[in-house]
Amino acid sequence: MNYDDISALQAIMDASRKIVFFTGAGVSTESGIPDFRNTDGLYNQSYRYPPETIISHDFFMADPEEFYRFYRDRMIYQDARPNAAHLKMAEFEKAGRSLGVVTQNIDGLHQLAGSKKVYELHGAITRNYCTHCHQFYSLKDILEQTGVPHCEKCGSIIKPDVVLYQESLDYDVINKAVDTISQADTLVVAGTSLVVYPAAGFLNYFRGRNLVLINLSVTSADRGANLVIRGKVGEVLSQIEVR
Ligand code: NAD
Ligand code: ZN
Repeated sequence: MNYDDISALQAIMDASRKIVFFTGAGVSTESGIPDFRNTDGLYNQSYRYPPETIISHDFFMADPEEFYRFYRDRMIYQDARPNAAHLKMAEFEKAGRSLGVVTQNIDGLHQLAGSKKVYELHGAITRNYCTHCHQFYSLKDILEQTGVPHCEKCGSIIKPDVVLYQESLDYDVINKAVDTISQADTLVVAGTSLVVYPAAGFLNYFRGRNLVLINLSVTSADRGANLVIRGKVGEVLSQIEVR
């Protein structure tokens, strides 16, 4: 990242009226939540099973105790707070300059930062439902129990509203996300390796003028971008003004 990158990004943002942010785990690493594929990310830590096995639908059904041990330990970061990236994205929306955030994250930090239009492709840890009677439970409710949380009404297991491997994305969320991306004049793709599908494929619906990539490592979308910034998204966006 250098001064030219920041001024080029500032110029693009100044000229844009319908900015959409497309975010991944890299947007929350500066809040202390590890991503999946970085050197110290979740995929490089050792567990009895690989993360993609544990956080699958079959595994949840077969061994909820082990699922929740991993989930509580590695997917819930209750003290994490929004960083400069989340806050700047919310500021653009508040100023009427952004159509919202399409995110693969499940941490709820975009909403905590004040973003209202957030399309959570993979759900969120902040919503949980009884697998039998569908009673809603907050993250606080889950944290108040230990091990596998159970419904206080019917005693069945509670499941986080998070899209597990083998599960499909919510149709309504997909539609809104795709619709929002297709209306954008500028799409800022930040902190995502773009290897998780179908989420990564939604970039193909972008029809606007400026595609901006902010990521620490190379992605498949870099070649088609108008501006690629190799840096930390929080550090980059903290230098951008909403004006
Ligand atoms: P990923 O882990 O595959 O990729 C993260 C990318 O962000 C990497 O390319 C990395 O180089 C980059 N990165 C890391 N820190 C950065 C920073 N500060 N600034 C800029 N770039 C940075 O993440 P993904 O593409 O979102 O896909 C992984 C899946 O993992 C998603 O489906 C998501 O649901 C889930 N996940 C979510 C969280 C979360 O909610 N915070 C955390 C881990 C994984
Ligand atoms: Zn119930």
